[in-house]
Amino acid sequence: MDSQFRPWESLTQDAGAWPVRAPADVLVVGAGISGLSTAFGLKRAGLAVQVMDAGAQPGGVIGTQRRDGCLFERGPNSALDTTELIGQLVDQLGLGGEMRLAAAAADKRYVVRGGRLMALPTTPAAFLGTRLFSLPAKLALLREPFVPAAPAQGEESIADFVRRRLGPEFLDYAIDPFVAGIYAGDPETISVQAAFPKLHALEQRWGSLIRGQLFGAAERRRQRETAKNSAKSFSFAGGMQVLTDALAAAVGPVALQTRATRLTRDADGGFTLWAEAQGRPLRYRARALVLATPAYQAAALLRESAADAAAALEAIVYAPVASVASAYVRSAIAHPLDGFGCLVPRKEARRVLGVLFSSSMYAGRAPEGKVLLTTFAGGQRDPALPGLTEHEIAARVQVEHRALLGASQAPLFQNVTRWPRAIPQYTLGHGGRVARAEAAVRQLPGLFFCASWKGGVAVGDCIKSGHLAAEAVAAWLRNPA
Ligand SMILES: Cc1cc2nc3c(=O)[nH]c(=O)nc-3n(C[C@H](O)[C@H](O)[C@H](O)COP(=O)(O)OP(=O)(O)OC[C@H]3O[C@@H](n4cnc5c(N)ncnc54)[C@H](O)[C@@H]3O)c2cc1C
Repeated sequence: MDSQFRPWESLTQDAGAWPVRAPADVLVVGAGISGLSTAFGLKRAGLAVQVMDAGAQPGGVIGTQRRDGCLFERGPNSALDTTELIGQLVDQLGLGGEMRLAAAAADKRYVVRGGRLMALPTTPAAFLGTRLFSLPAKLALLREPFVPAAPAQGEESIADFVRRRLGPEFLDYAIDPFVAGIYAGDPETISVQAAFPKLHALEQRWGSLIRGQLFGAAERRRQRETAKNSAKSFSFAGGMQVLTDALAAAVGPVALQTRATRLTRDADGGFTLWAEAQGRPLRYRARALVLATPAYQAAALLRESAADAAAALEAIVYAPVASVASAYVRSAIAHPLDGFGCLVPRKEARRVLGVLFSSSMYAGRAPEGKVLLTTFAGGQRDPALPGLTEHEIAARVQVEHRALLGASQAPLFQNVTRWPRAIPQYTLGHGGRVARAEAAVRQLPGLFFCASWKGGVAVGDCIKSGHLAAEAVAAWLRNPA
């Protein structure tokens, strides 16, 4: 432990009516991948960390379940190995032997066009030959290097950006399904600057996406980052929850079923967090506080002490998603399931966002002779989704499996997980909202944010954000400003 860090002795006395927990250097609210990664970095820096979560288990939206010999995910099915921080974390947790890269077959990704699955081309030759894009759309790509870059200032939706640079068909059959796959979002409202900063930077730096793709590789190598389109997908033999379980074990007991309800600033500069722990009131005290919850939960906690931050965070919209695991007898599905899965463009007017061929990606997801599919429905395309019952959602998914994959029998089982507010939408103005929230909490020195509403929604983004947040908190504790 750094000799400058001292236990916060002044806070061990507390005469309030609510029981108070022994003070920590840092209190982390939220034990999703963001909060756990932050806590892990803080613990490695020698700090006393307490993590709490409203849920019954750590991991947030990451959760693996087993049924009838199948292993399925309620949230993310895999992560992309985009930063060397992921490998470091996996090694530090001793999970190297458990980590699994997706099967080579999973490099093949399908997009639905005209109701049929078409492989996304991955080589120039395949691009020329594919029927996913028309000849005029392919020819339009030749003009991309000559399309002028947008002014550096100002903001543009990803839909406008792609229409301007690549043409409408690329928006409909490449970017729209991709935005649905990552954000469950609507490309007309998602900000290219906030949600795809690297794409925006490619245009600004090279004047063209194609030129940037060709010449930017050396720059990415220098920054030790892998582009998302070439990074490998990974999970663990026991599913994604292996990672969050290992993190939770490493950071010490996480206080579960403990919901933060109120936050106050103490006269001596620390924080008191009021919580309900399995129905019982409890108070936590700490020198520094990390809010690693969804934006609307952070807003509720900040309403009293930083109303401007709360207002900015409340304006961040979340898309609803249902994740449906379906097990079938192999012979019931006509499609070869030889890939990662399929994404469904909005233009196709279907009732699902995409289907992952989970048992083709990773061994051990379904017993011999059976297959496991994970289907996502809802998103900003289908805001009525939260109003449907699990039975209705499962039935919709079966209809789509019949139409898209040739399912000829009912599934052996289906498991529906409803996420009414699943994924934060980095819509136009998002950067400004995050900046306003960050600026407003500067009046509460020692309070930090780390969550998927800033720094990226992917699991790898959250791990990176957690690493950076831990560094920032440790630096602040060494030298409180
Ligand atoms: C269905 C789905 C599929 C996805 N698929 C992928 C994928 O394939 N690949 C990928 O990279 N990413 C995927 N993502 C995105 C990624 O999983 C998430 O962005 C990421 O896991 C979010 O982590 P987080 O820690 O920021 O938030 P969360 O996981 O939401 O964790 C926040 C935690 O805060 C707790 N909390 C909230 N309020 C309070 C309170 N008042 N007091 C105490 N605790 C509180 C919650 O209980 C929760 O545990 C997917 C997301 C979803 C929902």
